[in-house]
Amino acid sequence: MNTGLQLYNTLTRKKELFEPLNAPHVGMYVCGPTVYSDVHLGNCRTFISFDLIFRYLKYSGYKVRYVRNITDAGHLEGDRDEGDDKFAKRAKLEQLEPMEIVQKYTLGFHDVLRMFNTLPPSIEPTATGHIIEQIEMIKEIMNNGYAYESNGTIYFDVEKYSETYNYTILTNRNLEDMLANTRELGGQNEKRGRLDFALWIKAKPETLMRWASPWGEGFPGWHIECSAMSAKYLGAEFDIHGGGMDLAATHHTNEIAQSEACSHKQPAKYWMHTNMLTVNGTRMSKSAGNGFLPEQLFSGDHALLEKGFSPMTVKFFMLQAHYRSTLDFSNEALDASEKGFKRLMNALSLLDKLTPAESSDFEIDPIIDNCVKAMNDDFNSPVVIAELFEASRIINTVYDGKGKISAAELDKLKQLMQDFVYDIFGLKDEETSNIALNSVLDMVIDLRQTAKENKDYATSDKIRLGLQSMGIQLKDSKEGTTWNKA
Ligand code: AMP
Ligand code: ZN
Repeated sequence: MNTGLQLYNTLTRKKELFEPLNAPHVGMYVCGPTVYSDVHLGNCRTFISFDLIFRYLKYSGYKVRYVRNITDAGHLEGDRDEGDDKFAKRAKLEQLEPMEIVQKYTLGFHDVLRMFNTLPPSIEPTATGHIIEQIEMIKEIMNNGYAYESNGTIYFDVEKYSETYNYTILTNRNLEDMLANTRELGGQNEKRGRLDFALWIKAKPETLMRWASPWGEGFPGWHIECSAMSAKYLGAEFDIHGGGMDLAATHHTNEIAQSEACSHKQPAKYWMHTNMLTVNGTRMSKSAGNGFLPEQLFSGDHALLEKGFSPMTVKFFMLQAHYRSTLDFSNEALDASEKGFKRLMNALSLLDKLTPAESSDFEIDPIIDNCVKAMNDDFNSPVVIAELFEASRIINTVYDGKGKISAAELDKLKQLMQDFVYDIFGLKDEETSNIALNSVLDMVIDLRQTAKENKDYATSDKIRLGLQSMGIQLKDSKEGTTWNKA
């Protein structure tokens, strides 16, 4: 097992040696998407970064339980316990049931992450599936004296909590300043303190998503779901908790408070935060109106885009930046990533064509060491990419007959590429996957033609409908059958 991994812990504001609580087991919780609308490319950056971390931990020999939730209830606009419920608002707009909205955007989220070739988490729990656990946790927090009821809504008492614990431990802010800077907002009269936040919110007559509780009908606040679900699947204390940087100041700060107020334990040993994807320096977000949908990026169908870029080009572009650096979107940067990714894939396609020699002009061990060292240094993917380009240069040199490589070194080179390009970065060769898809489709269309000639219409229809359900439309004409993606 690789035991030299250093990771940056937001809690201590420094890099620390990764020492799991119960090695080789690792528990990792990452805040998932709020599924009231499509995920944008910024959201994808965060999930791609944690996919890299998940993959590298596995490569390092750990047995990881990776929990990434789906927020499908309790998210109010402004995140300050007032404002409309985002799900209800969207449901009204699209004339759907709130749970139809949840289903639609959860499926869309999965489709997008599949295109980026990310691994599914070990558990993907939903807020609506864990209402009982959230109610139980709120009861415990109240029993411990850290929450109070006000007209059917339960608030967390930040001042009471701060007598024993440090509310700003994650972001190192000054509590007095925060109190002074927090605006007076609606619902304030129900709260004892300005920083208090809702654990359970009383349903209004028009509230669609509502559940029975000891305090009447209502729904959970956003923060409690992650505390309840992380404790359920990973225990009161686990190894890594992650999410985008924008979550640290409120969502994660409140999660720590809730968990400590319930179990008197700081939930995660390491808190990890990914930096933001920006457009012209502004954070990509739904509200700023600068959030591309991944499909727009792939097709080029957006005013800011000069052309489309493939999923793997976009993923490569993201991996070329460290997860804690901001990454600014631009057509030029993506163009450069496209060239770089092609260069890497071209070299990889030559690997199997190299003939080993008796002796070697190249040693691969130093490259492998540098890659491991870079990943052990807080998952430094851009440094790994520079090393992979060095490996590509060796491949091209040998292919061009300008250098030789021994069988042993060639094996190492192949292993290096398999480990870092495919297993850890989760990249794939889009050209060959397209070639494979084309040949499989040609064969299936051929089988359908044979079925039709044999008047076996049940089979030919089954093939057509089956492909249709996968998003592939067949078109018959005198010239034959063609297909396109619906
Ligand atoms: P949301 O669906 O808004 O709750 O966001 C899902 C995840 O995406 C959270 O971890 C956010 O921190 C993260 N996120 C949101 N905007 C960006 C961005 N522009 N760049 C990177 N991550 C983001
Ligand atoms: Zn969360």
